[in-house]
Amino acid sequence: MSNKKLGLNTICTHVGELKDEQFKGAVSPMYLSSSYEFLDVEIKRYPRYFNTPNQEYLSKKIAALEHTEAAMIFGSGMAAISTMFLAFLKHGDHLVVQNTLYGGTVNFIKEEFPKYGIEYTFTNGYKAEDFEDAIKSNTKLIHIETPSNPLMTITDIKAIANLGKSKSIYTSIDNTFASPINQNPIDLGIDMVMHSATKYFGGHSDICAGAVASSEEVIERIWNVGKNLGGNLSDMTVWMLERSMKTLGLRVKAQTKNAFKMAKWLEKHAKISKVYYPGLKSHPDYKLAKSQMNGFGAMMSFELIGELDAYKFQKNLKLIKSSMSLAGVESTVISPHLTSHALLTQEERDAIGISDQLIRFSVGIENTKDLKADIEQAISHISN
Ligand SMILES: *Cc1c(COP(=O)(O)O)cnc(C)c1O
Repeated sequence: MSNKKLGLNTICTHVGELKDEQFKGAVSPMYLSSSYEFLDVEIKRYPRYFNTPNQEYLSKKIAALEHTEAAMIFGSGMAAISTMFLAFLKHGDHLVVQNTLYGGTVNFIKEEFPKYGIEYTFTNGYKAEDFEDAIKSNTKLIHIETPSNPLMTITDIKAIANLGKSKSIYTSIDNTFASPINQNPIDLGIDMVMHSATKYFGGHSDICAGAVASSEEVIERIWNVGKNLGGNLSDMTVWMLERSMKTLGLRVKAQTKNAFKMAKWLEKHAKISKVYYPGLKSHPDYKLAKSQMNGFGAMMSFELIGELDAYKFQKNLKLIKSSMSLAGVESTVISPHLTSHALLTQEERDAIGISDQLIRFSVGIENTKDLKADIEQAISHISN
């Protein structure tokens, strides 16, 4: 049966299942062996990194969801991104990378690239021209993130893919915020898609993992670097990730629906001055988001009006947790100026629009009436 013909939730539930031939159990058996017989077996790869039975099979589910031939699972999102970058960049090469990126990716580039002699340019903005302006003769990779953290800016995926193709430069995307349920960058021409599987793939704030999906040829290239770096995931966690991914479609769709309702409500709220959500017509990139996403996702940010203290607001929330991570079934908030962007100066934060009033909101699966009531009571506690 071709995966292309299967529905999204069928792919989530069944593609990449390992059959339990011995006992006919309903779920994939977990193979914990880190050693396999070599007699009479054609061993092309050492079966430990990225290709144990559970890893190989779960990779098929990820590849099917991202419309690619192949995928690889890693020990974290950072292991996925660092291995992917190092597979395509060597001494003397140049990376063009979006200026608004996950903080860990920024740190990896700034702290590690100089040691390898790899050059990089952060774009001045997130329009296609900004990427084109940053390209040099030695550029080998363009990396984007959309929607990006924390203001949910949208990068034109097709324009970047075309830019890369016209100059024979590989393109990659961090698709963590959208997930393959809401965005399929391969269909728009991007070469490689990476995920922090710690987020929506895991979805229950109890797994740390990463993934890259691409053609067989590209995955082979990443595998060859991955076996040297060793950022492998334990098969126990691989098994948990498979279980989590069966509900990926259900969860992300429910979260996306909730986020849309919450964004509409927050936008009308007298004590909220601004909402950043690509599904709102007031978002500057609404049309672009609508053209390239299947849904607008479940991440947003909003600003409390000036008189309200954002720290006290979060302290007063009872149901919504203040949490450093995101994308779990439970709703969470953080203050970017106290966390992800705390190391920038006030002027630097002002320049990119991250105010002290800004709250990033990862919307979960709870009933929106309860989320609204929680926000309402937290606001009333800090209002005079
Ligand atoms: C969390 C995150 C990462 C890093 O993933 P880990 O699994 O925490 O290593 C990368 N990109 C984005 C957008 C993230 O949110």
